[in-house]
Amino acid sequence: MQKFSNSSANGRVYLDNNATTPHSPALMSRWHELIDIFGNPSSIHQDSRLPKTILRETKQKIAELLGCSPLEIIFNSGASEANSSVLKAVFYSADKLRNEYLISQVEHPSVIKTAMYLQSQGAIIHYIPVSRNGEIDIDFIKEKLSAKTALVSVMYANNETGTIFPVNEISQLAHSVGALMHSDCVQTLGKLILNFQELNVDYATFSAHKFYALSGTGFCYVRKSAKWIPLIHGGGQERSRRGGTENIIGIAALNIVLEQLRNTEVKVNEMKRLRDLLENLISQNISDIQVIAQKAKRLCNTSSLIVGEIDGETLLMTLDLQGFSVSTGAACSSGNPEPSPVLLAMGLTRAEAQSSLRVSLGWETTEIQVRQFVQALTETVHKLREINLSEKKSVYGHR
Ligand code: PLP
Repeated sequence: MQKFSNSSANGRVYLDNNATTPHSPALMSRWHELIDIFGNPSSIHQDSRLPKTILRETKQKIAELLGCSPLEIIFNSGASEANSSVLKAVFYSADKLRNEYLISQVEHPSVIKTAMYLQSQGAIIHYIPVSRNGEIDIDFIKEKLSAKTALVSVMYANNETGTIFPVNEISQLAHSVGALMHSDCVQTLGKLILNFQELNVDYATFSAHKFYALSGTGFCYVRKSAKWIPLIHGGGQERSRRGGTENIIGIAALNIVLEQLRNTEVKVNEMKRLRDLLENLISQNISDIQVIAQKAKRLCNTSSLIVGEIDGETLLMTLDLQGFSVSTGAACSSGNPEPSPVLLAMGLTRAEAQSSLRVSLGWETTEIQVRQFVQALTETVHKLREINLSEKKSVYGHR
């Protein structure tokens, strides 16, 4: 069998933490314990005790972090499942007269594409605009909300630009007409000090691989009074709200990493310092480069750049060959040459969106790595611009 190797051990610089995070060192150091865990938590015999305890303890830790009841947490495979589950649960359980949905235009595809599916089943979807500066159109929400609204879905922080939305204010508006409120909180844990109760949402969705645990593990907060219909029917797991044997190793890994979220403040401050350093160095060294929504309330780790006259994919691949992992738009749609729908929805031109590059820092990012990256970016941008210029000259010369 092929030997697996870890890119961070190869001296690469990983700056794509909004796509997925490396496993936390605390997790790596206890890997041998995790691999030893087995047993079906639904069994009756003694081998179910350990997995049952892991499920119970992890739910308790999540409940403490969010300030909710452990009964309000459902484990699942990640945020795509959680987002689809929430929208479909509301659609299939809502009063027939409530069939309108307000969804921000910059949601993750797992929300947007579920909404498109619900539209094909008779739902009316209103897409809430977001400005180039990252502000959500609150007046549009006020105008469209009515006794027909079933659900409002607005993410807490955007994965591509890092902009943070006023979820609490939107929740109040949604509740004032009797609608439910969902927020995709995937990009928040480990990147901001989350005061979850303040958000006042009915549903919230999370994914473990975005905060240093394992992919294929996630959870959904469902307020006790909120409607629910399982997306996956099966055994009575998760109090019959999500069929399927739980991913016990993933949940045990989450348990370990949740401990580390207690000290997020120090990490957030350091990521912000490095992100600001990165943006200052870039603006000093490279001309014609913009940070998208720079003045907006943003995550501490994300810089979404528009690099004038440069194709983002070419830039990404050239940096990749030099050992730097970054992204253009959402990683989930990589391999797709179309410009990011999120950036287009924010009013960027196709050319601007095609010149975008997302840099997302993580807990393990160092100042040396940031400086190395800016140096490589500066040299690469200058080289690519020279090539563009000489290509233009040669085309012009052949005329
Ligand atoms: N929501 C947001 C904001 C995301 O960034 C992602 C992943 O990129 C998802 C949902 C999907 O999460 P998962 O990979 O757990 O399905």
